[in-house]
Amino acid sequence: MTQSFSQLQLHPHLAQAVAEMGYESMTPIQAQAIPVVLQGRDVMGAAQTGTGKTAAFSLPLLQRMMVHENASTSPARHPVRALVLLPTRELADQVAQQVKLYAKHTKLRSAVVFGGMDMKPQTAELKAGVEVLIATPGRLLDHIEAKTAVLNQVEYVVLDEADRMLDIGFLPDLQRILSYLPKKRTTLLFSATFSPEIKRLASSYLQDPVTVEVARSNATASTVEQHFFSVQTDDKRAALKQIVRQRGIGQAFVFVNSKLGCARLARSLDREGLKTTALHGDKSQDERLKALDAFKKGEVDLLVCTDVAARGLDIKDVPAVFNFDVPFNAEDYVHRIGRTGRAGASGLAVSFVASSDARLVADIEKLIRNKIEIEPFELEDSRGGERRERLNDGSRPYRDEERGSRRGETDERADRPPASRPASRPTPRPAPKPVDPFFDRPYEPSPQAPEQPAWESSAKVPSRVSANIKTKRKVAALFKATD
Ligand code: AMP
Repeated sequence: MTQSFSQLQLHPHLAQAVAEMGYESMTPIQAQAIPVVLQGRDVMGAAQTGTGKTAAFSLPLLQRMMVHENASTSPARHPVRALVLLPTRELADQVAQQVKLYAKHTKLRSAVVFGGMDMKPQTAELKAGVEVLIATPGRLLDHIEAKTAVLNQVEYVVLDEADRMLDIGFLPDLQRILSYLPKKRTTLLFSATFSPEIKRLASSYLQDPVTVEVARSNATASTVEQHFFSVQTDDKRAALKQIVRQRGIGQAFVFVNSKLGCARLARSLDREGLKTTALHGDKSQDERLKALDAFKKGEVDLLVCTDVAARGLDIKDVPAVFNFDVPFNAEDYVHRIGRTGRAGASGLAVSFVASSDARLVADIEKLIRNKIEIEPFELEDSRGGERRERLNDGSRPYRDEERGSRRGETDERADRPPASRPASRPTPRPAPKPVDPFFDRPYEPSPQAPEQPAWESSAKVPSRVSANIKTKRKVAALFKATD
């Protein structure tokens, strides 16, 4: 059933802003979280960017803060009451833009502070008084130390993209920030995955939280077509090129596990004629900016990156993601493939599995709670156009011809049984796509918007960053933690 915002009885000034945004119905995370936050409960939310989670936490917080709304010019009448913490400048800026829009008809003030920017204008805003402060942890600590951010009246805290904050290593900063806040408060934590670390964080700082989940925790979007191909290490490059060519892939992220591997792969792919650039921790800031810029402009086809370098990088709708190396950490798999097939768009995620990767694949299987079928991969021999296929144990694979049936070139790969199976086993099917209730049936669409979910077609918030982060320096936030 469509859940309408009118059911919430929001303050008319907030309801007006929602109407002006063009939102017709609540997204699933909003329908679940808003009533709970309005009751003042702590929330642990499993939701990714693109699900409408910003409104899910900001609308009820603004609603609750309306009792404090005032037009006074005195800073003392506008203490920080809600604090929203995010891992990167880009995300902080996006959330701040949205909060400003939701609050635009109210007298509640909001501000954003993140690193890489002059502190002075931020200081001036904080000194004037703001009720909602959106911040990245490092810069917020700078303001706390400078006594420009005073947090002793905070009633609401949002830890947004908490898994990414922990990945980046913000835990000590978060702990320090939280130690400055009043104990009596409402705390909301949003994370794409509920890792043991996230659960520990939640148990330390949330009180009796209500769990709201729009996608199963650690779920991978069902719109992502996932393949795990058995490919020997030496053949991975050729396999990548072959898939790019056969599938006509325009742009892709290619994930590798080491900086050295990243640089080497990017160099060799580039030499072989694919417009490729590398993104890893040893690259200078300037080089990273150029790499991302070139990818965004479409001047680069393949962005070869390490997990650390890709963190906080918010490029949406990349048609394909390659796991050139299976990630050491299963959660990185979820993060990596989350860059494709976002918000209902379809995507392709291809992982190359070498013989030593069995344990890593088993970890991923456990995390995504789906059986992974490892498919054999048939390489075309670049010299003779002949196909060759090798298994990780070096043996030749089972072939259809050996069963007396010939198949067309294109479906050979998918239809061939995995290496480990005896030849008499029936032809396996490709790995089943994981079922994700959110992506399968996100919400009841309005009759006027048959093709796109309402929150995509009617959203008025620009998806790009605001004027705040137009300069080169600011784009750096996409690569690393701020501050
Ligand atoms: P978020 O996940 O918060 O980053 O939101 C993703 C996009 O969805 C933003 O552009 C929002 O403006 C938009 N949005 C949020 N809630 C709704 C809604 N109920 N209906 C339509 N669009 C929405």
